[in-house]
Amino acid sequence: MVQTHTTNQLQALQQQVEGRVITPQDADYDPVRQGHNLSIIHYPALILVPATAKDIVIGVRYARAAGLPIAVQTTGHGIPYPADDSLLIVTTSMRGVELNLETETVSVEAGVIWQDVLDVLLPHGLAPLLGSSPHVGVVGYTLAGGIGYLGRKYGYAADSVVAIDIVTADGELRHLSTTENSDLFWGLRGGTGNFGVITALEFKVYPVAQLYGGNMTYLGEAARDVLRFYRDWVKTLPDEMTTSFAIVKLPDIPQLPPAIRGKTQVFIRGAYTGDLREGERIVQEWLDWRMPVENTFRVMPFSEIATISNDQVDPVATYATNNQFTELTDEAIDIIIQRATDPASHIFANELRNIGGVISRTATDHSAISNRDAQFIYIIGTPVFDIAALPAIQAHIKQSQALLQPHFSGGAYFNFMAGDEAAGRAKDVYGTAHYERLLALKAKYDPENVFRFTFPLIGKHAAVKA
Ligand SMILES: Cc1cc2nc3c(=O)[nH]c(=O)nc-3n(C[C@H](O)[C@H](O)[C@H](O)COP(=O)(O)OP(=O)(O)OC[C@H]3O[C@@H](n4cnc5c(N)ncnc54)[C@H](O)[C@@H]3O)c2cc1C
Repeated sequence: MVQTHTTNQLQALQQQVEGRVITPQDADYDPVRQGHNLSIIHYPALILVPATAKDIVIGVRYARAAGLPIAVQTTGHGIPYPADDSLLIVTTSMRGVELNLETETVSVEAGVIWQDVLDVLLPHGLAPLLGSSPHVGVVGYTLAGGIGYLGRKYGYAADSVVAIDIVTADGELRHLSTTENSDLFWGLRGGTGNFGVITALEFKVYPVAQLYGGNMTYLGEAARDVLRFYRDWVKTLPDEMTTSFAIVKLPDIPQLPPAIRGKTQVFIRGAYTGDLREGERIVQEWLDWRMPVENTFRVMPFSEIATISNDQVDPVATYATNNQFTELTDEAIDIIIQRATDPASHIFANELRNIGGVISRTATDHSAISNRDAQFIYIIGTPVFDIAALPAIQAHIKQSQALLQPHFSGGAYFNFMAGDEAAGRAKDVYGTAHYERLLALKAKYDPENVFRFTFPLIGKHAAVKA
C-alpha cells in the first residue's frame, strides 16, 4: 500500500543521496517527469534523479519501505505505461561512458544515450550497435534486444552485452555476467526492465568507421512493385547489408511543403559495412531496376548513420505495434500496401525491417531474445497529432493485423510496441520456453512486481504467481 511521505522522511532521503529528490510540489516536477512520448503523461509520487549507483540502491530501498512501485525513465521514448503513484527514477544525470580499447568494450551508466557512446567511439573508428536514432537510451533499447543497421552483421545489441550491474527489488546491487548471477544475466538480455534498475551496462563494440548507406525514395504508386522487388532482393544480401522498406503516408497539413503534403512515399533504407564498392554494386541493382526519385546512398562516415532513417527528434505523442514474418508472400504484400495507402488511414508509417543474418544463426539459448528465424519485423507506427484520433488509429491497426494474421510468424518485438498491446503479447515476444524461464526469474527476483512499468511479462500491473 502506498504511504504518505513525511517531510522528515523526504529530507532524510535527500540527505542520503548525491542526486535530487523531486516531489509534485517542486517547480521542476513537470519537466522532469515528462518523457519524449507525449502520449505517456504520468504523475509519480516521487522522482529520484540519481547521481550514482549508490543513489539508486538508496532509492529502491526507500521505495520498498514506503510501498511504492518503481519505474525507470531515461528518455521516455519507450516507457509503456504512465508510472502513476510510483518512485520514478530518472537516470538522465548518469551519463558516464568508458571505452576499453584493449577488449573493445564500452561501459555506460544508466542514463547514457547512443549519441554519448558515438562521441567516445567515433575517434577510434569503432561503432556500437545503436538503432536508427542516436537520441534513444542505451539501456532501455538494449534490454528489449536492440536492432539497428549493423544488426544482420553483429546481431541484437543485447547479444553483445558482456556485463550488467543492477539493483534488484531487494535493494541489492548485483553484478551479472555469464559467470556471475548468470540466470538473471540471461534474462535481462531481452527481458526488458522487469527485474530491477540497471546502473551500468558493458558491451562489445565493432570496428566500423564507414558505411555505404542512405535511402532511396520511390513514389507511392510504385509501392507494390517496390516491396516485391525488396522481398526478393533481401534474400540475396550478405550479412553486411541491413535494410528496411518503409511506406510513409504524409499528413495533409500546412506544416509540410505542398509538393509532398498528403502524398505517399516509399523508402528503401540501408547500410553496408563491408567493402564499400561491393555495397555500391548491391545498391546499383535498384537503379538498374527502376530509378528512384531520390537516392542518398553514398560512402558515409559512421557519424552520419542517423541520416539513413532521419527519425523524429523532438518530443511527440506516438503509437506503434509490430508483428513478424518469416516469409513475405505476394498476398501479404498486397494487404500491407492496400492498408498503408487506405485513404481512411491516419497511420504515418508501415516499415519492414529485414533481420536474419547472424541473428538467425545465434544459439536460441544465448539470451532471452526469441523468434530468431523471423526475416522481417513489420512495424506500424505513427505520431498521434490529435489524441482524439487514437481509437480510430488503433482500430485500423487491429483490422490490418487481423487481415495479415494468417501470414504472420506469430512473433513480436517489444521495442516497437505501445503499452496497451504489450500487456498481452509477452508470449509472442518470447515463445513458450523463454517465457516460462523469464516468469520463473520474475518470481525469484521481483515476486511483488515492483518493476511493473515496463514491457510486461504478465498482464498490465498483474501480480506474479510464484
Ligand atoms: C525515434 C526512435 C527510433 C527508434 N529506433 C529503434 C531501433 O532502430 N531499434 C530498436 O530496437 N528500437 C528502436 N526504438 C525503440 C526504443 O529502443 C525503445 O523505445 C526503448 O524502450 C527506448 O529506450 P529509452 O531508454 O530511450 O526509453 P525510456 O522510455 O526511458 O525507457 C524504456 C524502457 O526501458 C526501461 N529502462 C530504461 N532504463 C532502464 C534502467 N536503467 N533500468 C531498468 N529499466 C530501464 C524502462 O523501464 C522503460 O520501460 C526507437 C524509438 C524511437 C522513439
